[in-house]
Amino acid sequence: MVKKEFKAESRRLLQMMVNSIYSQKEIFLRELISNASDAIDKMYYKALTNDSVTFDKDNFYIKLTANKDDRTLTIEDTGIGMTKEELEKNLGTIAESGSFAFKKENEMKDGHDIIGQFGVGFYSAFMVADSVTVLTKAFGEETAFVWESDGVDGYTIEEAEKSHTGTTITIKLKENADEENYDQFLEEYELKSIVKKYSDFIRYPIKMDVTVHKPIEGSDENETEEVSEEQTINSMVPIWRKNKSELTDDDYNNFYQEKRYGFDKPLTHIHINVDGTIRYNAILFIPETMPFDYYSKEFEKGLELYSSGVMIMEKCSELLPDYFSFVKGMVDSEDLSLNISREILQQDRQLKTIAKNIKSKIKSQLKTLMKNDREKYETFYNAFGRQLKYGVYSDFGANKDDLQDLLMFYSSTKKGLVSLSDYVDRMPDDQKFIYYATGDSYGRIEKLPQTEMVADKGYEILYFTEDVDEFAIKMLREYDEKEFKNVSSGDLGLDTDEETKDAEDNTPAEHKELFDEMKTVLENKVSDVRISKRLKSHPVCLTTEGEVTIEMEKVLQAMPD
Ligand code: ADP
Ligand code: MG
Repeated sequence: MVKKEFKAESRRLLQMMVNSIYSQKEIFLRELISNASDAIDKMYYKALTNDSVTFDKDNFYIKLTANKDDRTLTIEDTGIGMTKEELEKNLGTIAESGSFAFKKENEMKDGHDIIGQFGVGFYSAFMVADSVTVLTKAFGEETAFVWESDGVDGYTIEEAEKSHTGTTITIKLKENADEENYDQFLEEYELKSIVKKYSDFIRYPIKMDVTVHKPIEGSDENETEEVSEEQTINSMVPIWRKNKSELTDDDYNNFYQEKRYGFDKPLTHIHINVDGTIRYNAILFIPETMPFDYYSKEFEKGLELYSSGVMIMEKCSELLPDYFSFVKGMVDSEDLSLNISREILQQDRQLKTIAKNIKSKIKSQLKTLMKNDREKYETFYNAFGRQLKYGVYSDFGANKDDLQDLLMFYSSTKKGLVSLSDYVDRMPDDQKFIYYATGDSYGRIEKLPQTEMVADKGYEILYFTEDVDEFAIKMLREYDEKEFKNVSSGDLGLDTDEETKDAEDNTPAEHKELFDEMKTVLENKVSDVRISKRLKSHPVCLTTEGEVTIEMEKVLQAMPD
């Protein structure tokens, strides 16, 4: 037996890769399962293009077997297998991808997207393995071969026995070291959860013998015994690739629960299938309740990112603007340029396009919800409305156009939450401004003397009780060409203003002494004391001049420097 050596560069590359490019060791399993899936896809493709080949779904699977005594993990597939030449070429040369070549040769159609492309994934096995054995029999061949390597010195290829077409990869796990526990890759629970995490939507069944407790037949006291049972541990069907019309609300809710996006029920979902210059599928959820850590440092926004059905990133934050950070869900695209570890994106142009698209879908979904199901929208708004207002205010108002139609406030009409367009729609013809009043609570605002004059005209007043409200509105400046006006501002824009102002500017002589006395007493607290015509049932009120109102001043003063 002649031992062939990796070329020096390859050996160095292998070392480097094994130790550095993957963020987590468990990814080796994702890579080997992806290869197995690719190998089965190639059989499927053969059947599509060659009449003498049939593809009977039941015969195609991936199977994981852990052997604790030998400390080996086996990944078996019934895919296309490899000839001796292919073994040599694909596994003997790093960065040689048989899958990439296959795709090019066959101009693969959408939907049967082979995952492999870089020709390095296989070697990730050496992150956890002392040695790797690949027993394989290529489709249409009589002879099987076994490839073996310790990942350092090179590899051997020999003839071997194998009854079926396909590949069986056996990994001899490294010895446990101080910080590294390789035995975990022999545990049922661990293997299951790694498969769920990265490979749940591989199209073929990933099987494993798992231990289950079954009631012993004939025993009267519910006694159980441990038996081994073969189970399929992946869900296989990516629901995001299904047609919306085939899916029910329950399907989406189950998906939400399975993926553990939240403990609540989603309020609504958005299913996107885009087949344009950039292709992607996405399922997004708007949760019903605010996560307990939403306003803490621990909260991380982001969507799960899949490339051709394989999970590559758990929280891709670039996909969501901060003001939609409450959205949960996933995106799958075949068009991402990944880096070699398939964990990071090579360039984010595609991602930016997707993010922009997603943003507008969320926006329009929320708008529709507001229009068609006010009650649901209010539930949403009570949980996340504050975030939208921050969104209007942040980035110097760059997103205000996107968000203004999603805002709601309580108002003097007491008709529940009111959108700005509700407000404008019922403005009387002579009303020029959108009026608002600020205060700690609705009760307090109602009692504000300043509201009287505006309310007297029959104009509606928006009630702002959150710190961010007035800041957000100042950023908007106007809605539908109507400016916002605080009821406590000096100039209210009413047709009686002139009269009021005249009266206020000309303090009658008989009061002058009293007012001067008041000013002395309130020195440094007020800049002027004047007679007012805007009061009806109240004896006195405070007003402001200029842009910063009393409420805003309070907030600004409360802020840390
Ligand atoms: P990639 O998957 O990016 O092509 P890998 O290093 O994971 O790179 O695999 C290299 C090549 O080895 C694959 O392209 C494929 O041709 C071949 N290969 C790996 N695993 C299998 C398998 N289980 N069955 C058939 N061919 C395989
Ligand atoms: Mg691969």
